[in-house]
Amino acid sequence: MGAPPHLTAEQRAMALAKAAQSRKRRAEVKNKVKSGEFSIDTVLEIAANEDSVGKMRVRELLEALSGVGKVRATTLMERLNISPTRRIQGLGRHQLKQLRHEFMKSTHAVAPGKLLVLSGPGGVGKSTVASTLRTSGDFWVSISATTRAPRSNEHDGVDYFFITDEEFSRRIKDDEFLEWAAFAGSRYGTPRSAVEEALLKGRNVLLEIEIAGAKQVKAHLAQSLLVFLEPPTWEELVSRLEGRGTDGPERRAERLALAQEELAAASFFDIVIVNDQVERVVEQLIGLIS
Ligand code: ADP
Ligand code: 5GP
Repeated sequence: MGAPPHLTAEQRAMALAKAAQSRKRRAEVKNKVKSGEFSIDTVLEIAANEDSVGKMRVRELLEALSGVGKVRATTLMERLNISPTRRIQGLGRHQLKQLRHEFMKSTHAVAPGKLLVLSGPGGVGKSTVASTLRTSGDFWVSISATTRAPRSNEHDGVDYFFITDEEFSRRIKDDEFLEWAAFAGSRYGTPRSAVEEALLKGRNVLLEIEIAGAKQVKAHLAQSLLVFLEPPTWEELVSRLEGRGTDGPERRAERLALAQEELAAASFFDIVIVNDQVERVVEQLIGLIS
């Protein structure tokens, strides 16, 4: 190791002042974590842009979180293969991702917000139910991103965030989706940060997504409640898809073929509800979270 650099008195005073400022900034961030003002996600984001926060030890961050003491922090770090002295800026991509997931599990247990996933075959009435629930104010309903083209009655940022294939791929790469799936030639994904934020604020969150996505959510968040919406009969499902009038005959045939496969997935779900009347389904769903 070479000799330490020789500093003039002025340089030394400047370095000391800078170090003191960094420590002060880290203490400030930790206090905000302790008070619940900053989530772990917020800190990780700040750490990516601010060197002084990036230098915070992972252990300090974890111990500042409500409900995470020394023992739990140690166990967690061992499990995620994070060395005891690791700083936030030294975490790998995979470790950052694992930490975020872990945080979702632990905070969800204490946060009052519940995550309900509504799934079922295309045309059964999921978006009709979801939009009624959005208006009722009982749920914060997630808006998905999709590569599908908007239908004539749909608006960007209201029904979906309509994005390009390239943008969708970028979001997958940057781990911005809680789950995503390909369906009928397009891709659909749930924006992770908005959902996490709503849950942390104690909102009950509703995701209206197809079956493969619902399974992914359950795998990440075991406490989520999966609801499968069933049509009263197959004929009724066909008539609803036709009645909606949003797909041409070819698209409709494709969606009906998919619906047949989707109906077989009901047994995977926590609860199955028959959508005979929208109001009745809405009441049942509100009952599940109250
Ligand atoms: P999904 O989102 O599952 O694809 P939609 O919400 O678009 O289904 O509903 C498909 C069609 O069925 C729509 O025209 C909608 O108005 C109608 N619909 C939904 N629920 C019911 C119901 N309980 N009874 C009759 N028609 C319904
Ligand atoms: P549509 O094209 O009819 O709007 O949606 C097709 C299917 O994609 C529906 O079953 C709908 O529930 C599902 N879907 C919508 N958003 C998402 C999402 O974010 N993730 C997943 N996995 N499926 C979604």
